[in-house]
Amino acid sequence: MAPDRPPSVDRLARSLADTGLPHPLLVDAARLAIADGDPATAEARARDLAGSMGRHFLTDVVNATGVLLHTNLGRAPWGTAVDDTRYSTLEFDLSTGDRGSRQDRAPALLARACGAEAAIVVNNCASAVLLVLAALAEGRGAVVSRGELVEIGGGFRIPDVMTQSGAHLIEVGTTNRTRIGDFASAVAASGDDAALILNVHRSNYRIEGFTESVGVSELVGLGVPVVADIGSGLLDAACQWLADGPPPWLVGEPAARQTLEAGADLVTFSGDKLLGGPQAGIIAGRADLVAACAAHPLARALRPGSLVLHALQNLALAYLGRDGDAIPFWRMATLTVDHLRERATAIAPDLMVDTMAVPGGGTLPGVEIPSVGLRLDGDRTVGLRAGTPPVVARVAEQATLLDLRTVHPDDDAVLGSALDRLGAR
Ligand SMILES: *Cc1c(COP(=O)(O)O)cnc(C)c1O
Repeated sequence: MAPDRPPSVDRLARSLADTGLPHPLLVDAARLAIADGDPATAEARARDLAGSMGRHFLTDVVNATGVLLHTNLGRAPWGTAVDDTRYSTLEFDLSTGDRGSRQDRAPALLARACGAEAAIVVNNCASAVLLVLAALAEGRGAVVSRGELVEIGGGFRIPDVMTQSGAHLIEVGTTNRTRIGDFASAVAASGDDAALILNVHRSNYRIEGFTESVGVSELVGLGVPVVADIGSGLLDAACQWLADGPPPWLVGEPAARQTLEAGADLVTFSGDKLLGGPQAGIIAGRADLVAACAAHPLARALRPGSLVLHALQNLALAYLGRDGDAIPFWRMATLTVDHLRERATAIAPDLMVDTMAVPGGGTLPGVEIPSVGLRLDGDRTVGLRAGTPPVVARVAEQATLLDLRTVHPDDDAVLGSALDRLGAR
């Protein structure tokens, strides 16, 4: 074949079969490579393209960023422990052989764990808020403090969610100060219009200085249901699943159980942020209100599948069994600095530095968790990402930091070989 004649797409695609990609994708790579320049180098370009296609797929990574809930890395790591050779009892009652409800297991266990009468699980906390507003306040008003009209990462804005739900916003107070009287007069002035009060946790920002806000316990008694969207925080402030109780950096975060005890009629929270589990949103509280949410047509559109419900069931059992060690997020969050130092010493003592890990997930702004890492001069993140499995690190002050708090101990060996590959130890 003359060197300037384009190779055949099919022949080129077949020559890349060793990459393991399906043939149609190799044909795409071959086509692009041939269309894109010198025929003599088409094969190398096609191999490059196939390589980057392969690396584009979802894959496991070692999270060495020190960000416990890294939204770009799927927030929390969670085991599925689901046997994919078998079916599941998703909507089947084993004792009667009749149809069951998918909302019977994980949601009931989570309700038990936070002291709620009932709960349902939806796709994420954004859907939980949407469903609550649609089911309880469609065509009516929802009262929210101006200091809580939040935007969560990814474009979740309370006023926009309100519009989508068919409820309208009744704003009260000011950005920095809202008093109980503001709520009381708004509810009274609305006549029958106010369907509920929505209290929103300021998970990702703080208001400091001349401030005043109203807690859930004050809001009850105004004659309308109080819904607390806590998003992140704790299932129970006592953290019975941790031998030493809540770590200091979490004290003061809202907790589902205590928010319900304070009188909230419903709480909504995130399965990945608050529980350290799979992406999910939980609506828990008064049985009649949960039932109204479950009966709304949107509930069908927002329901999770068996994979998520199964993982949440295992997670809820671990919480109820007070077994924090079974929950990767809590295992990592509570590792001692001494333990991390031992691991760093075993990997590369000369590179060991003190670091600060963070909770992440758009929660607890400004909160840092003492940690230990390995420090490399310069930005070495590209090389670290190129390994198998890829290692994701962070760069600070012209150095690359590998924080051990978010790395599973089994992956210390992966860090070791990555450092060898980069000639760094
Ligand atoms: C994060 C958060 C949400 C959205 O939760 P997702 O599970 O990410 O959809 C809603 N409300 C609050 C207060 C949050 O912190």
